[in-house]
Amino acid sequence: MIELPEAYVYAEQLRQTVTGDQVVHCEAAAHPHKLAFYSGDPHQYPDMLQGGTVLDCVPWGGLVELQLTGVNVLVGDGARLRLYEHDEEFPAKHQLKLVLASGRALQVSIQMYGGIWVYAPNTNDNPYYIVAQEKPTPFSDAFNSDYWERLWQAQKPNLSMKALLATEQRIPGLGNGVLQDILWRAGLHPKKKLSRITSAERQKLFGAIKQTLSLMRDQGGRSTEQDLFGRTGGYPVQLCAKTLAQPCPACSTPITAFAYMGGRVYVCPHCQPE
Ligand SMILES: [Zn+2]
Repeated sequence: MIELPEAYVYAEQLRQTVTGDQVVHCEAAAHPHKLAFYSGDPHQYPDMLQGGTVLDCVPWGGLVELQLTGVNVLVGDGARLRLYEHDEEFPAKHQLKLVLASGRALQVSIQMYGGIWVYAPNTNDNPYYIVAQEKPTPFSDAFNSDYWERLWQAQKPNLSMKALLATEQRIPGLGNGVLQDILWRAGLHPKKKLSRITSAERQKLFGAIKQTLSLMRDQGGRSTEQDLFGRTGGYPVQLCAKTLAQPCPACSTPITAFAYMGGRVYVCPHCQPE
């Protein structure tokens, strides 16, 4: 799933590779997918996109926006983006395919579930898109300790750490995937309530958010995800399905997991006491 670090990696890779290239052919919704969501009628996408030149690519939270002349493409959640060279074989299954004048093809395939939006600039009123444009990302200087303090003070005392970080779009693009290593680095249990967090822990969590997300972005995304060229991300995820029951890198206690708030969470019972 695309979260903050992967959105930044995709956007930067797209900016460097397809800016200035032109869409000469488009196929949308060519393969049925029950959990692929499209804005409007995807059969109109070819008319909207063919002839468009790529101007830029911008990450918004966990969303990636490709900006073309007069039209934008936005993808998120389980959308997987891949750029194929002209001499590579393009996989037949995809939810959106853009053949470019350079001969390359940009393909979007939806894993599990995900959305594709195609729209004229400034006409997308999707709430996730709007909120991601309004709030500062943890990569920015605007996401500083003053901002963190205000965010914290606005919450109810019985809110859990997972609810604080990964629900209600308080920090757009921070989801259940990147959450695990952030809480592990902060030494906090996902169920721990806001009211039980000390001032020092609050500061440590702020640092863990910034540090963990930056490491993930700077190393090309998480090891559980792939980039625009199909390469696995260089950030080794410490707590995930693959490391379940493996020793914690900090204390060697086996990693455990449980279901909590619509997703599985992974913890080190020693480093993150409940
Ligand atoms: Zn540990």
